[in-house]
Amino acid sequence: MRVEVQELGKLQIIRDITSVFAHEIRNPMQVSRGFLQLLDEPDLSDKKKKYIALSIEELDRADEIINDLLIFAKPTNDNMHKVDVGLELNRILNITKAYSISLDVEIKHYITNDCWAYANPQKLRQCLINILKNAIESMPDGGYVWVTCIRTGDGNIEITIQDEGIGMSKEQVDRLGTPFYSLKESGTGLGMMVSYQIIRSFKGQIKVTSEKEEGTAFCILLPVVP
Ligand code: ADP
Ligand code: MG
Repeated sequence: MRVEVQELGKLQIIRDITSVFAHEIRNPMQVSRGFLQLLDEPDLSDKKKKYIALSIEELDRADEIINDLLIFAKPTNDNMHKVDVGLELNRILNITKAYSISLDVEIKHYITNDCWAYANPQKLRQCLINILKNAIESMPDGGYVWVTCIRTGDGNIEITIQDEGIGMSKEQVDRLGTPFYSLKESGTGLGMMVSYQIIRSFKGQIKVTSEKEEGTAFCILLPVVP
């Protein structure tokens, strides 16, 4: 019991340090991003415009990693609202459009109205972005991702994100959500960990079915709010 308490204390210290670092790093990054945007004037050469766009993209990528770290640091249930899940899905489809096009991936979607869940919208978006990005990244030669959102007969909202990518073995699926598990060269292994944490905090479930070389389907169930 004492050991357990000590371990919990250590985890809390790690979370506190992570939170302070993440905030302190984010502020100067946001200032730099603002100045980069100011530099981007119409008479600049294409080369310079490209460098500015790339720098902003890299800062945004770092910002997403910081978002994941902050969720890990503060796994609280704050800012819970009645959220239109379909609307949030449409938002993240817009956010990830440029990224999917750059990797030759086309996203098809079927999103129905009236899917209300009790959630923190920012965290829900972050979780969906993490899963959608993994789906896009699973197809090195491009392909399709299918995104659907429906109400099931038994009081759930069912979101599915399905790819036709490299897939995972059963062992790999079992390791999903464990901290820092990543098979990517520049992966962090944070995305799935916080996504599982987020869905758990909404009293939902994530189910994964995957087949090597065939593809993967993530199914998220959230209790529907009338
Ligand atoms: P990262 O994307 O930084 O590697 P994640 O936590 O998002 O970290 O994902 C962990 C690992 O799970 C990935 O490195 C990948 O091996 C595997 N994975 C997740 N989603 C998929 C998917 N749709 N298809 C194949 N592998 C996946
Ligand atoms: Mg990822």
